[in-house]
Amino acid sequence: MDFDVAVIGGGVAGAYTAWRLQQELGSTQKIGLFEYSDRIGGRLYSVTVPGVPSLKAELGGMRYIPNQHRTVASLVDHLRLRTRAFPMGAPDPVGANCNLFYLRGKHLRLHELGDPDKVPYRLAWSERARRGAALWPAAWLVVLAGASLLLWCVREFYVAGRGTLAPWAPPRSLVASGPYRLSRNPMYIGVILVLLGWAALFRSRTLLVYALAVAIAFHLRVLVSEEPWARRTFGADWEDYRARVPRWLLRLRKS
Ligand SMILES: Cc1cc2nc3c(=O)[nH]c(=O)nc-3n(C[C@H](O)[C@H](O)[C@H](O)COP(=O)(O)OP(=O)(O)OC[C@H]3O[C@@H](n4cnc5c(N)ncnc54)[C@H](O)[C@@H]3O)c2cc1C
Repeated sequence: MDFDVAVIGGGVAGAYTAWRLQQELGSTQKIGLFEYSDRIGGRLYSVTVPGVPSLKAELGGMRYIPNQHRTVASLVDHLRLRTRAFPMGAPDPVGANCNLFYLRGKHLRLHELGDPDKVPYRLAWSERARRGAALWPAAWLVVLAGASLLLWCVREFYVAGRGTLAPWAPPRSLVASGPYRLSRNPMYIGVILVLLGWAALFRSRTLLVYALAVAIAFHLRVLVSEEPWARRTFGADWEDYRARVPRWLLRLRKS
């Protein structure tokens, strides 16, 4: 068989393309449409419901929206096809949220599709949030808590320590007030909270791993650089402070 143009796949796109090509070039070129299944239509598939010959059901694409699907709408006009309104969902009090879905052998209502305990998929923990939006308030609270903690620390550095975060203008006296009464490194805890909040907001495992990596880097920096500097700079004040306040939040063992 010789063809000038071969269209592969007889779904609606292939069938439409072949039809248009046939109209435009059919007098001079040979257009072929190849479909490997035993029917044309692809994911558009209307069936007659067994036992109810008057009832047609669509197993694939079921509706088009004229002001959005303009090509389909113009084709329907062009072919003078009959159309019918297609209201979605049941009227109140049942409501569209109760539309039925049949998924992997389970019957679900539309509002249950967002429930990780009901949908028949094995979801990883990061995918188990009820919905992205449901997670937002909690994640934003974590970001906000972290950011507030950071600002509080900056204020304590400025007011109690008469210094700044900048390495060239560090606090002139040991800061042990405000959040520094609970942890020796609340600023880093603030940063980690912001990162964890972001990870939850974007449901991103990569951000979570990044937050853990930053936490480890902070820990090493505190051990290797900051604590020796504080010991040299503030002497007995630092030793007394270190004995009273844990490095992070919980004192697992004497640090
Ligand atoms: C349940 C469901 C509901 C939907 N609801 C809507 C809706 O309401 N409104 C809407 O606009 N859209 C809806 N869609 C989407 C719509 O049905 C599809 O976007 C559209 O039918 C895709 O058409 P297509 O021609 O691009 O692809 P398909 O329909 O997938 O056609 C591809 C064809 O290519 C054939 N093929 C593949 N490989 C080869 C090969 N190597 N050789 C030969 N043939 C091959 C296949 O057998 C198939 O027939 C829905 C889809 C589904 C499944």
